[in-house]
Amino acid sequence: MATGRATVLVEPNRLETWDVPVPEPEPGGALVRIVLGGVCGSDVHIATGEAGVMPFPIILGHEGIGRIEKLGGIETDYAGVPVKPGDLVYWSPIAACHRCYSCNVIDESPCENSRFFEHAEKPNWGSYADYAWLPNGLAFFRLPDGADPLAVAALGCALPTVLRGFDRCGTVRMGEAVVVQGAGPVGLSAVLVAAQAGARDVIVIDGFDQRLDVARSLGATATISLADSPEERRRKIYDMTGPAGPSLVVEAAGVLPAFPEGVELAGVHARYVILGLWGAIGTQPISPRDLTTRNLTIAGATFPKPKHYYEAMHLAARLQDQVPLAALISHRFAIGDAAAALETVKRGEAIKAVIDPEL
Ligand SMILES: [Zn+2]
Ligand SMILES: [Zn+2]
Repeated sequence: MATGRATVLVEPNRLETWDVPVPEPEPGGALVRIVLGGVCGSDVHIATGEAGVMPFPIILGHEGIGRIEKLGGIETDYAGVPVKPGDLVYWSPIAACHRCYSCNVIDESPCENSRFFEHAEKPNWGSYADYAWLPNGLAFFRLPDGADPLAVAALGCALPTVLRGFDRCGTVRMGEAVVVQGAGPVGLSAVLVAAQAGARDVIVIDGFDQRLDVARSLGATATISLADSPEERRRKIYDMTGPAGPSLVVEAAGVLPAFPEGVELAGVHARYVILGLWGAIGTQPISPRDLTTRNLTIAGATFPKPKHYYEAMHLAARLQDQVPLAALISHRFAIGDAAAALETVKRGEAIKAVIDPEL
């Protein structure tokens, strides 16, 4: 049987490169050759074990673009678009069961029986690999003609996450004042969507000048450094937005102190969307009275649905010539260098890192 290489997380903090079998697609599924596997901030938490128990050993990687190698008796993608071997596809990494309360009654994700990772020796859709085996039920979409795989991969699962957040908590309204905490992939995605939606102010806070520059290239109207004190940051934001303050604050910082600061920054009647605290376990003090007196809505969101991957793919393809999306990919690593890829992401040096099996 043919084999392909894969980065296997044998147990927390132990990565190995394995040769794994390349299985035939199952009926309704697809086998793809990976073109790019995105390295996500959450992969760092998964690799250290902070993200909880996984069915170790697992093949890392939940963001991928690949070229169809073989199809399991299907002729269309999950949006009804005809597909054939050789086509580029992008997929939602979470396989929903379609047989549970979340799937069928409340139409929400995550599904109670979601499958994210599979044991490395079983057919597998981890994307730090030569091949991904997409099971029946795992939604994949054909890239539109002319789409640049780099542009679609650039914001990884961050853009679907942001679209999911706005879907759950209310879309960005034209003319509103938006503050984004953090300019990693989630924050940059929020900047892109807010700018495209017609926000008047898109103000970004981050500690790295390089990331703030990138935020400007995606549509941020102003940037604020973490080197300023929280009081200074708030004053600068209110100088720009006026006394009503921001009407939408997006947490994409991934660190707990961002939460009370976001509550402080939110203007009267504002919405505060929490997207980045998935790996930040702990508590923070806020004044609950502020929520009442300022009429605040605070909401979290996670687990993008297939439709958010579909929307993200088309948004990236449409904007690829207007904003420098492909240029966000700052680092590429071979399958065997996944440990270095994770280190680079952990240190905050990469705008976006990818695994490129051709290296
Ligand atoms: Zn389900
Ligand atoms: Zn991701």
